[in-house]
Amino acid sequence: MNLTNQRAYNFNAGPSALPLEVLEKAQQEIVNFQGAGMSIMEMSHRSANYEEVHNSAIARLRKLFSIPENYEVLFLQGGASLQFTMVPMNFLSEGQKASYVLTGSWSEKALKEAKLFGTPVEAASTKENKYRNIPALSEIGFNADDAYVHVTSNNTIYGTQWKEFPETGDVPLVADMSSDILSRPVDVSKFGIIYAGAQKNLGPSGVTVVIIRKDLLEKANTNIPTMLKYTTHADSNSLYNTPPTFGIYMLGEVLRWVEEKGGLEAIEKQNVEKAKVIYDVIDNSNGFFTGHATEDSRSLMNITFRVADEELEKQFLAEAKAAGFVGLNGHRSVGGCRASTYNAVPFEACQALANFMLDFQRKHQ
Ligand SMILES: *Cc1c(COP(=O)(O)O)cnc(C)c1O
Repeated sequence: MNLTNQRAYNFNAGPSALPLEVLEKAQQEIVNFQGAGMSIMEMSHRSANYEEVHNSAIARLRKLFSIPENYEVLFLQGGASLQFTMVPMNFLSEGQKASYVLTGSWSEKALKEAKLFGTPVEAASTKENKYRNIPALSEIGFNADDAYVHVTSNNTIYGTQWKEFPETGDVPLVADMSSDILSRPVDVSKFGIIYAGAQKNLGPSGVTVVIIRKDLLEKANTNIPTMLKYTTHADSNSLYNTPPTFGIYMLGEVLRWVEEKGGLEAIEKQNVEKAKVIYDVIDNSNGFFTGHATEDSRSLMNITFRVADEELEKQFLAEAKAAGFVGLNGHRSVGGCRASTYNAVPFEACQALANFMLDFQRKHQ
């Protein structure tokens, strides 16, 4: 616990840290939102107050992420996991192919859903290498008649991240950006669809952001349930039914915070510095700590590593917990350690963790 403000060193993988400034503002507004005499959660989603919150969140995301005019921004529910289903349900038909690049558990799950609707194929996979790396762009095979190519921009569990994306020409590129959206500038125009659950870099769980190119909406399958059609939500400004109003309010405030931090270039610079203090300790530890990801594929958002000796690793995690570091256990499917350093995790927390790791090594080497 950081005693000056009672905030833990929060390295949770998701849901994860939110900016303190945003939490404090929400706290201030929770009883009486801008003189309405009620919180944002208690008012109609058709009210002027809520509409302003909703529309300014969309506008802020458009501006911050430089989303071109020919894209829709949707606020949906069901998490990134429902997008694993909605993408193929809307864009894949029986017998039709789509290419999936497998870089971890989330891409495997996305592929599994696509099999319910069409004939997805593996465009590349780094499973053999325990998902330590992102494949070289030259290794990614796809076909001109694919419905789309699907990638996972940041692999939350394995700690790898794409540095550049494949050129797919007329085949739409679809990206699950759940764990690194808004961590760096991205050329949105390269993508047909970008989707992300909010609970890593954007806000609380409950909102899923979908950015979709408008011409794709016209090509979507029509004989599917209303709530699972992108066009339903695009046609109604994501107000077809009751949206997750509090989550969208929080998302808007997180976007405002990113803006105040100087936008995505500034955020990226900070993220590079934050990750570097921890990776430096790993790299200079003479094998006491070992990173899971190969250096060229390392994530700036999820730093995955092991302590050389298994008993010592248990001790490391226990002592870190006692020292106030939260969320350092690796995903239950892979074990080891993971520090998630999303946008809202302050540099000071990363520096404190780096110092703790150095100390631990000194004592136990
Ligand atoms: C967390 C995560 C998901 C799952 O998100 P839900 O919102 O829980 O469905 C999917 N993909 C990636 C890359 C993630 O990090």
